[in-house]
Amino acid sequence: MKTCWEEAGWEQLAPDVARRRLPDWDCTVGVIVGRTDVLVVDTGSTLREGAALRAEITRLTGRRPTRIALTHPHFDHVLGTAAFAGCEAYGATGLDALLRRDREVLREDAVRHGVAPGAAAEAVDHLVPPHHAVSGEISLDLGGRSVLLANVGPGHTAHDLAVLVPGRPEVVFCGDLVEESGPPQAGPDAIPSHWPAALDRLLALGGEDARYVPGHGSVVDAAFVRDQRDELAARFGVSR
Ligand SMILES: [Zn+2]
Repeated sequence: MKTCWEEAGWEQLAPDVARRRLPDWDCTVGVIVGRTDVLVVDTGSTLREGAALRAEITRLTGRRPTRIALTHPHFDHVLGTAAFAGCEAYGATGLDALLRRDREVLREDAVRHGVAPGAAAEAVDHLVPPHHAVSGEISLDLGGRSVLLANVGPGHTAHDLAVLVPGRPEVVFCGDLVEESGPPQAGPDAIPSHWPAALDRLLALGGEDARYVPGHGSVVDAAFVRDQRDELAARFGVSR
């Protein structure tokens, strides 16, 4: 029998843990539901998309989202954040300064990837930088369950945050440090020499049995992440 998440087009990853693959760029958005708090991982590519996500999550959980974790500063992961006004937002150290400084870069990147210019400008105008900076790891108590936010980068960008959800199975939201639907995308803001080590940290966090949720594509296992680590090391000429 399908769960309410699955009926709404989400993929249930564990009890009270789900993700949705958004249209257009196949960007993953995650949700972790505790007794007192609802944490959302990434917010979509426009205010409209963020607002639709917020409404759907509220309908499915019966509660409003209260916290946001931003995995990295790319338009398809952060531009819906203002639709979650009132939530406490978390990002890797330096993400807040970058989102204040590089709004124009973000807007141009969104338009180049096909976001309507008006929607991109609106989202950037309202962009919400994270309220809390994560260096190392912090544990968030969501009521009856806690999650770990871990600054595992740099790699895909200079501000890569992973979310570990303990349980059975354990779930790791990887952001774009891991991609399944194609080779990991390395743009001008990637830090390739550090990327393989970031995947080592991800693997240390989740272990052998976790479900690893990529920023784009299907859920993978530890062996896939290890292979991607080796491919990246070969691609960028990084020795062990
Ligand atoms: Zn990205």
